[in-house]
This record gives sequence, structure tokens and C-alpha cells, in this order.
Amino acid sequence: MTTSSNRQSSDALYQDALTHIVGGVNSPSRSFKAVGGGAPVYMERGEGAYFYDVDGNRYIDYLAAYGPIITGHAHPHIHEALVNASLKGLLYGTPHRLEVEFAKKLKQAIPSMDKVRFTNSGTEAVMTTVRVARAYTGRELVVKFSGCYHGHSDLMLIAAGSGPATLGSPDSAGVTKATAKEVITVPFNDIDAYREMMKEWGDQIACVLVEPIVGNFGIVEPKPGFLQAVNDITHEHGALVIYDEVITAFRFTYGSAQQVYGIEPDMTALGKVIGGGLPIGAYGGKAEIMETVAPLGPAYQAGTMAGNPASMATGIACLEVLEQPGVYEKLDALGAKLEAGIREAAEKHDVTITINRLKGALTVYFTDEIVTDYEGAEKSDGEKFGRFFKLMLENGVNLAPSKYEAWFLTTEHTEQDIEETIEAVHRSFAQL
Ligand code: PMP
Repeated sequence: MTTSSNRQSSDALYQDALTHIVGGVNSPSRSFKAVGGGAPVYMERGEGAYFYDVDGNRYIDYLAAYGPIITGHAHPHIHEALVNASLKGLLYGTPHRLEVEFAKKLKQAIPSMDKVRFTNSGTEAVMTTVRVARAYTGRELVVKFSGCYHGHSDLMLIAAGSGPATLGSPDSAGVTKATAKEVITVPFNDIDAYREMMKEWGDQIACVLVEPIVGNFGIVEPKPGFLQAVNDITHEHGALVIYDEVITAFRFTYGSAQQVYGIEPDMTALGKVIGGGLPIGAYGGKAEIMETVAPLGPAYQAGTMAGNPASMATGIACLEVLEQPGVYEKLDALGAKLEAGIREAAEKHDVTITINRLKGALTVYFTDEIVTDYEGAEKSDGEKFGRFFKLMLENGVNLAPSKYEAWFLTTEHTEQDIEETIEAVHRSFAQL
């Protein structure tokens, strides 16, 4: 068990960071702003399911770096792949063998992609799918679902308007009102709202971006029939369906959410897990659409680091771990155990929660309502979550510092880790 009093080195690093790095962090979600403030913890080392901070405290980790670390920290097979790749030179700027091997492996796992292209991040992958969809359809408007996150490109930082299907407004300073006019936002899981919106705007819409299983306001599954209806309606209007599987691919099965529901989009964006911990993104889709991309077609996308040998090597190695038999069954079994333990603790300590879980990913919402869309997720008590988050940290468990994030299990968590975590939940709930 840790206490905040023994994080002296960590706190000192944060003070130093505040002077030199904007806000002390290199991605805003790493700050503790969403959990009531305070100094984030500086980790020194990750090993399997554990983190060790710079003061030597150990944590069971469920952040998994916001998703990529599904095989745990410092996995030996991925480590070996990285070392071997680095011995041959880190960056070529020429085509090379590993990118072909990895493209084939991804296509085998996600058959809706006839052709793929590697990028350096999920943001780039999604941003490019939109460009390609616009180039292919000759249309400009883009649809997304409220509360879903698709990276930080200008277009993807447009928030919902006030009505069920209104033109958006910028969610970040620096994004123009003109950009906001290019994006329409509708509630997730509301097919009537989607149909109505498409009736009005359908002939101007290039594409709809879908997190087929939402990961960005917690884990939220599509209602039965929702994804198929989105596909059908979108295609009726001559627009493209893009699945943003940056979180979902290789999370719930070896492959993507497309395999989970038996539905195929026109294009898919990938990231996180497929890099095994190194920077990566990828997008792919039907050959006819992908051939819009340079050098074959007029839609431009490039990258000095794209397809770099190290990211290809760790990505392949990560998928090699995930394709072993029993991986997803194990994640599911551990997830079920964790969910049951949290529910029991909530009952015992009279804490009101809702848990959404799919296999090895779950979200604990501090609300008694079921959560099927962003409005529902917003009802989770953020102040209570903030206190819970900090108590869990004190009790040696590292979660993501936001009520909207998921807990991610890894192949390296053990039953004992889950039991220890449940004990920490009991102690935390008791003090809430
Ligand atoms: N799409 C989704 C669904 C995401 O969750 C994220 C990142 N959380 C992104 C895109 C952006 O990926 P990256 O941070 O690698 O740019």
C-alpha cells in the first residue's frame, strides 16, 4: 500500500515539469485536472501488470497507457523484437520487409481492409480516413457521435451542438467556426436521430465516424441492430462508414469489433495495441477507396516515421502474443472476476455504481442509471470518481484519471492481482 506522503521524488519531478513542460504533461489527460487536481505520479518502471514509481511504490496498473499495453509492461517477446529491430537500424525511409509482413498480418485479422497504410498515431489514421472519404465521395460533411474521441485533428475536435442533430461548435480554441460547420454530431445508440439527420444532410455527407464499441466515455456497446442500421442508412445516402478501432481492435478478440458483430465498414482506423507500445496508427479499407491515396490517387498522406521498422517489429510481436490460444478467454475471465468483486464491494459499502464491461475492459460509473450514450456517462459523479481514483492510488492501484476512461486488463494480470485490486476497492469504497 502506498501513501501520498511517500511520493516526494515524484512530487519534486512534477514541480520541475511544471516549469519546463506546459502544464507539466505531454498529453492533457495525464494531468489530474479531471480528478480534482494534484500531482500526477511519476512512474519509473513497468513490469507485467505492475508500475513502480520513482519513490519505489508499486501499483497494479489498469491504465495500460490508455490501451496499448494489452500484453503488460516490458513483455519479453516485444522487448526481443524491439532489440532485434534496433540492431538493424531504427529508421530507413525506404520500403522494408517488416511493413509488408505486418500489413499482411493485419489484413488477415481484419478482412475488410484490402489495403492498409501505416501512420504514427491514431489521430493521423483517423484524420486521413476522413480526407480519403472526402476525396472518394467528392463531399465535405462528416458525422460523428457525441462524446466519442477520434484524436486531436481540427475536424475531430468539434463538440455536439445543443439539439439532437445540430451543426457543431469547436471544442478547442484555435479550431475555426468554418471547420465546425463541416461536422454534424448525433447521440450514440440513437438510430432515429441518425436517420433524421441523414434525411436532412445525407447527400452532402462524405462519411460517418463510428467507435463500434465506445471506449471514450467508458465502455459502451452498441445496441442490437445499431451498427447495421448505421451502415444501411449511410450507404443509402452514398456516404462511407469509417470505424475508428483505435481502442477496440485486438481488445476483445483477435481482430476487431467488426468480427465481434459481423459487420464491415468501408474503412478502418487503427492505433494503440497494434504498435505493442511504440507509436503507430494505420488505416485501411476497400481497395477501390484506398486507391484514392497517393501515389495511386489524389488524396495525399505521408510520414517520415510511418511504417518505421521498430514499430512494425513491436506491432507484429504484440499480435503474435495475442493470437495465442486462450488470450481473450483469460481477459474475459479476469474481467468477470474484477467486475463481480467491484459489485460486491459497492453493495457492502452502499456505493451506487453502474459497471459496463466487455471482456477485459470495464468502466465504473458513479450513477445508478444504465449508460448507453454520452448523456448517461456524464451523469457519473465526477467528484466521487476523483476521490475514488486517489484512494485507489493510495491503495496501490493505478487507474486512468478520468471518470470517462476504462480499466484495461492485460495478459499479465493474475487472479491474485484481481483479488488485491478488489481488496483495494473495498478499502476505497469504505472511505468514500
Ligand atoms: N481514436 C480513438 C477511438 C482513440 O481513443 C484515440 C486516442 N485515445 C485516438 C483516436 C487518437 O489516437 P492517438 O492518441 O494515437 O493519436
